[in-house]
Amino acid sequence: MPSFRKPTSLLLTTTLMLILIQSPNSLPTTLLTHPISTHLRFDSLSLSAASSDFGGIVHSHPSAVFLPSSPSDIASLLRLSYFSPHSFTISARGLGHSTRGQAQASAGIVINMPSLNNSITVSTDGMFVDAGGERTWIDVLRETLRYALTPKSWTDYLYLSLGGTLSNGGISGQAFLHGPQISNVHELDIVTGKGEMVSCSESVNPDLFFSVLGGLGQFGIITRARIALENAPQSVRWMRLMYTDFELFTKDQELLISIKAEGEGWRLNYVEGSLLMEHSLKSNWRSPFFSEKDLKRIKKLASGNEGVIYCLEASFYYDYDHGRNINRADKTQMDQDIEELLGKLSFVSGFAFRNDVTYMSFLNRVHDGELKLRAMGLWDVPHPWLNLLVSKSNIMDFHIGVLKGIMNTTKSMGPILVYPTKRSKWDERMSTAIPDEEVFYSIGILLSSEMNDLEHLENQNAEILKFCDQQGMNYKQYLPHYTSMEDWKKHFGKKWERFAEMKSRYDPKGILSPGQNIFAHSV
Ligand code: FAD
Repeated sequence: MPSFRKPTSLLLTTTLMLILIQSPNSLPTTLLTHPISTHLRFDSLSLSAASSDFGGIVHSHPSAVFLPSSPSDIASLLRLSYFSPHSFTISARGLGHSTRGQAQASAGIVINMPSLNNSITVSTDGMFVDAGGERTWIDVLRETLRYALTPKSWTDYLYLSLGGTLSNGGISGQAFLHGPQISNVHELDIVTGKGEMVSCSESVNPDLFFSVLGGLGQFGIITRARIALENAPQSVRWMRLMYTDFELFTKDQELLISIKAEGEGWRLNYVEGSLLMEHSLKSNWRSPFFSEKDLKRIKKLASGNEGVIYCLEASFYYDYDHGRNINRADKTQMDQDIEELLGKLSFVSGFAFRNDVTYMSFLNRVHDGELKLRAMGLWDVPHPWLNLLVSKSNIMDFHIGVLKGIMNTTKSMGPILVYPTKRSKWDERMSTAIPDEEVFYSIGILLSSEMNDLEHLENQNAEILKFCDQQGMNYKQYLPHYTSMEDWKKHFGKKWERFAEMKSRYDPKGILSPGQNIFAHSV
């Protein structure tokens, strides 16, 4: 044994020296002398990566970055903080796609979740996938497609971690049908703010399960999620319909999300929508969809409509064969059904476009745009995004007051998404705050600051929120950002009391996710 002691203490001495030299803040000795201290990083590269995010607006410097190799490393770290008389804050960082420092931990420790790299296991009998909370949705999709299976509910962009989207909601054009991603989770493994490792589901530890879903990282760190699967299609009929009238556009969206699936046949699988601005049609990163010829026509249509038109997106999944002969949809019948459906809609005549694409390229559509923007140096710019959930009864006022009023959409850079979804697809027990009305709209004002206009965009966001408040709108921020507890209380409304109670049960010292600015950290 002595032969072991010498190198270990040598290693410890070296680690301690590095810490003393490089760590700006003192972390407890119990941590610095613990075996897991070898997972800590103090170099400026690690620290600066952990103090930035996709938003590029907030920069909080942690004392160290932690690279776990297992969930029990995370549990040890949490326990060291919780039982220390000098506890420190800890934030899980998935892919850092937050926009307001939500995954940062000023003077605390940021856990670099991707270091876990847990396996992804598909159960074809149980129709579920088990994946580490650090895994990305694109990884999960690639693995499940090997079995001709797929998760049901998505985000528009797949390079996000399971833990990151499940801490918020996970919304895209499938949510009207299946609910958000948090409505499609069977089980979770959690490391709580006390360092306990707990499995939970609707029937086992349901309090923790529902609190964590949409819980903004406040109650525990998700180390495994079991996600529901369905049969995967091979192909997608992807359609875009143009409108010059916002009211007709939203009426048709509402009609489409009200259609019920008939028997085993085809059904509408995805409904979204966005504003298309004449000046940014070409640089819109969401999806290269239109031919040059179509783009010219659309641009002309927009220019005759004060520079802005409305684009309804709808998709149908088909071809479920995969050599197993399941649910093979009759394509000719699908064509007829779609024609019949289009006949009921009010888009501008001659402005219906379609593409038939593979399921993978449909789901991964934003990635192409990302690569283009990266090549132009326009990905790593500040993103003062504002995401709102606005009730159907306020959507016309929102259009007039915000989209046509406060915002000068004819100059805005970045997509503006507008699409309806259904409250009944959310479980009331989940933490995410949503408007109190069956149909509400997901609005993404996803602007980039490309021309030193960050201050202007920030002011605009503040004005939009003020307008919504003054009008008494039934709305909630999605991916919310507030800095005072009063605002958080208002945000959670009826859910606040329970949210605070669960916090005191699972993270009583306020160690977790300090970047959300909800609860104070008590040493
Ligand atoms: P991070 O930014 O790393 O973390 C976000 C929060 O979750 C932090 O509070 C963090 O502490 C916490 N967290 C991270 N991992 C864990 C974990 N394992 N356990 C517990 N807490 C954890 N959202 C949608 O709903 N729909 C969309 O279509 C959509 N599109 C997007 C497109 C782009 C280009 C971008 C940048 C974001 C988009 N988002 C969308 C928002 C996205 O879902 C959230 O920002 C999400 O939190 C990002 O995941 P992440 O892994 O980067 O999380």
